[in-house]
Amino acid sequence: MSQRERWVGALSGFFQEVNQAHFDGFLDPPDLIWNTRLRSSAGRFVPGSRKYFMNFPPKIEIASYLMDEERAGELIRDTLAHEMIHYWLWVRKKPYGHTAEFLQKMRQMGVSRYNSVPRTRPAKYLYSCLGCKKDFPTKKRLGNLACATCCKAFSNGKYDSRFKLVLKMKFESVP
Ligand SMILES: [Zn+2]
Ligand SMILES: [Zn+2]
Repeated sequence: MSQRERWVGALSGFFQEVNQAHFDGFLDPPDLIWNTRLRSSAGRFVPGSRKYFMNFPPKIEIASYLMDEERAGELIRDTLAHEMIHYWLWVRKKPYGHTAEFLQKMRQMGVSRYNSVPRTRPAKYLYSCLGCKKDFPTKKRLGNLACATCCKAFSNGKYDSRFKLVLKMKFESVP
Protein backbone atom coordinates (compact mmCIF):
# COMPACT_ATOMS: atom_id res chain seq x y z
CA MET A 1 0.00 0.00 0.00
CA SER A 2 1.37 3.41 -0.92
CA GLN A 3 1.67 6.27 1.56
CA ARG A 4 -1.22 8.05 -0.11
CA GLU A 5 -3.51 5.03 -0.11
CA ARG A 6 -2.87 4.72 3.58
CA TRP A 7 -3.96 8.27 4.42
CA VAL A 8 -6.45 9.25 1.75
CA GLY A 9 -9.44 7.97 3.75
CA ALA A 10 -8.19 9.19 7.10
CA LEU A 11 -9.77 12.63 7.39
CA SER A 12 -13.18 11.72 8.78
CA GLY A 13 -11.63 9.36 11.34
CA PHE A 14 -9.22 12.03 12.52
CA PHE A 15 -12.07 14.53 12.61
CA GLN A 16 -14.16 12.34 14.92
CA GLU A 17 -11.17 11.61 17.12
CA VAL A 18 -10.26 15.29 17.59
CA ASN A 19 -13.93 16.22 17.91
CA GLN A 20 -14.36 13.79 20.82
CA ALA A 21 -11.03 14.59 22.46
CA HIS A 22 -11.21 18.39 22.35
CA PHE A 23 -14.72 19.55 21.45
CA ASP A 24 -16.93 17.10 23.40
CA GLY A 25 -18.25 15.79 20.07
CA PHE A 26 -19.91 19.17 19.53
CA LEU A 27 -18.93 19.69 15.90
CA ASP A 28 -20.86 18.37 12.89
CA PRO A 29 -18.54 17.09 10.19
CA PRO A 30 -17.94 19.80 7.54
CA ASP A 31 -16.85 18.87 4.03
CA LEU A 32 -13.37 17.41 4.46
CA ILE A 33 -11.34 17.75 1.30
CA TRP A 34 -7.84 17.00 0.09
CA ASN A 35 -6.51 19.95 -1.85
CA THR A 36 -3.82 19.00 -4.36
CA ARG A 37 -2.86 22.61 -5.11
CA LEU A 38 -2.55 24.00 -1.61
CA ARG A 39 1.11 24.93 -1.08
CA SER A 40 1.29 28.12 0.91
CA SER A 41 -0.29 26.44 3.89
CA ALA A 42 -1.06 22.91 4.98
CA GLY A 43 -4.74 23.50 5.47
CA ARG A 44 -7.53 26.02 5.39
CA PHE A 45 -11.00 26.55 6.68
CA VAL A 46 -13.65 27.87 4.32
CA PRO A 47 -16.80 29.15 6.06
CA GLY A 48 -20.14 28.01 4.72
CA SER A 49 -23.43 29.76 4.22
CA ARG A 50 -25.49 30.42 7.33
CA LYS A 51 -28.69 30.65 5.37
CA TYR A 52 -31.47 28.21 6.09
CA PHE A 53 -30.69 25.93 3.15
CA MET A 54 -26.95 25.94 3.79
CA ASN A 55 -26.40 25.77 0.03
CA PHE A 56 -22.71 25.67 0.62
CA PRO A 57 -21.53 23.91 3.74
CA PRO A 58 -18.39 24.89 5.63
CA LYS A 59 -15.31 22.98 4.58
CA ILE A 60 -11.84 22.15 5.73
CA GLU A 61 -9.19 21.56 3.10
CA ILE A 62 -5.98 19.71 3.83
CA ALA A 63 -2.98 19.89 1.49
CA SER A 64 -2.41 16.54 -0.24
CA TYR A 65 1.37 16.79 0.05
CA LEU A 66 1.09 16.06 3.77
CA MET A 67 0.35 12.44 2.83
CA ASP A 68 3.89 12.11 1.48
CA GLU A 69 5.63 13.42 4.58
CA GLU A 70 7.44 11.10 6.92
CA ARG A 71 5.23 11.97 9.89
CA ALA A 72 2.11 12.11 7.72
CA GLY A 73 -0.41 10.94 10.32
CA GLU A 74 0.74 13.41 12.92
CA LEU A 75 0.91 16.32 10.45
CA ILE A 76 -2.51 15.60 8.97
CA ARG A 77 -4.11 15.29 12.39
CA ASP A 78 -2.41 18.46 13.64
CA THR A 79 -3.38 20.47 10.59
CA LEU A 80 -6.95 19.24 10.76
CA ALA A 81 -7.11 20.05 14.49
CA HIS A 82 -5.88 23.58 13.76
CA GLU A 83 -8.55 24.11 11.11
CA MET A 84 -11.15 22.66 13.45
CA ILE A 85 -10.46 25.50 15.89
CA HIS A 86 -11.30 28.03 13.15
CA TYR A 87 -14.44 26.01 12.40
CA TRP A 88 -15.40 25.77 16.09
CA LEU A 89 -15.16 29.55 16.47
CA TRP A 90 -17.15 30.11 13.29
CA VAL A 91 -19.91 27.70 14.36
CA ARG A 92 -20.30 29.70 17.57
CA LYS A 93 -20.39 32.96 15.59
CA LYS A 94 -17.11 34.19 17.06
CA PRO A 95 -14.37 35.93 15.09
CA TYR A 96 -12.62 32.90 13.61
CA GLY A 97 -9.13 34.14 12.78
CA HIS A 98 -6.06 33.58 14.96
CA THR A 99 -7.69 35.41 17.85
CA ALA A 100 -6.78 35.20 21.53
CA GLU A 101 -9.48 32.56 21.96
CA PHE A 102 -8.06 30.63 19.02
CA LEU A 103 -4.56 30.66 20.50
CA GLN A 104 -5.83 29.68 23.92
CA LYS A 105 -7.69 26.68 22.50
CA MET A 106 -4.67 25.79 20.39
CA ARG A 107 -2.45 25.74 23.46
CA GLN A 108 -4.95 23.63 25.41
CA MET A 109 -5.03 21.13 22.57
CA GLY A 110 -1.27 21.07 22.16
CA VAL A 111 -1.64 21.81 18.45
CA SER A 112 1.10 23.57 16.57
CA ARG A 113 0.71 25.99 13.70
CA TYR A 114 1.78 23.86 10.75
CA ASN A 115 -0.91 25.31 8.58
CA SER A 116 0.63 28.75 8.37
CA VAL A 117 3.92 27.38 7.13
CA PRO A 118 4.72 26.56 3.49
CA ARG A 119 6.10 23.08 2.86
CA THR A 120 9.50 24.41 1.87
CA ARG A 121 10.29 25.49 5.41
CA PRO A 122 11.37 22.63 7.62
CA ALA A 123 11.36 22.72 11.41
CA LYS A 124 14.06 24.98 12.79
CA TYR A 125 13.76 24.46 16.49
CA LEU A 126 13.33 21.53 18.77
CA TYR A 127 11.50 22.18 22.02
CA SER A 128 11.03 19.70 24.80
CA CYS A 129 8.58 19.40 27.70
CA LEU A 130 10.27 19.69 31.09
CA GLY A 131 7.80 17.13 32.46
CA CYS A 132 7.37 14.24 30.03
CA LYS A 133 10.42 15.07 27.84
CA LYS A 134 8.34 14.85 24.68
CA ASP A 135 9.87 16.71 21.73
CA PHE A 136 8.13 19.47 19.75
CA PRO A 137 9.76 20.46 16.46
CA THR A 138 8.72 23.97 15.44
CA LYS A 139 9.37 26.42 12.66
CA LYS A 140 9.34 29.46 14.89
CA ARG A 141 10.58 30.36 18.31
CA LEU A 142 7.87 29.74 20.86
CA GLY A 143 6.73 32.15 23.53
CA ASN A 144 5.55 30.81 26.84
CA LEU A 145 3.96 27.51 25.94
CA ALA A 146 3.52 24.44 28.05
CA CYS A 147 2.92 20.79 27.17
CA ALA A 148 -0.82 20.26 26.77
CA THR A 149 -0.69 16.60 27.76
CA CYS A 150 1.05 17.31 31.06
CA CYS A 151 -1.04 20.39 31.86
CA LYS A 152 -4.15 18.34 31.25
CA ALA A 153 -2.94 15.46 33.38
CA PHE A 154 -1.49 17.40 36.31
CA SER A 155 -2.86 20.91 36.28
CA ASN A 156 -6.53 20.78 35.23
CA GLY A 157 -5.63 21.89 31.73
CA LYS A 158 -4.22 25.18 33.00
CA TYR A 159 -0.84 26.55 31.95
CA ASP A 160 1.80 25.26 34.35
CA SER A 161 5.40 26.42 34.13
CA ARG A 162 6.62 23.03 35.35
CA PHE A 163 5.70 21.77 31.88
CA LYS A 164 7.08 24.68 29.94
CA LEU A 165 8.47 23.87 26.51
CA VAL A 166 12.16 24.66 26.54
CA LEU A 167 14.44 25.03 23.55
CA LYS A 168 16.63 21.96 23.21
CA MET A 169 18.36 22.65 19.92
CA LYS A 170 18.28 24.69 16.76
CA PHE A 171 18.45 22.79 13.44
CA GLU A 172 20.78 23.94 10.73
CA SER A 173 18.69 24.97 7.73
CA VAL A 174 18.09 22.21 5.17
CA PRO A 175 17.79 23.08 1.46
ZN1 LIG B 1 -5.15 29.10 11.09
ZN1 LIG C 1 4.73 16.99 28.80
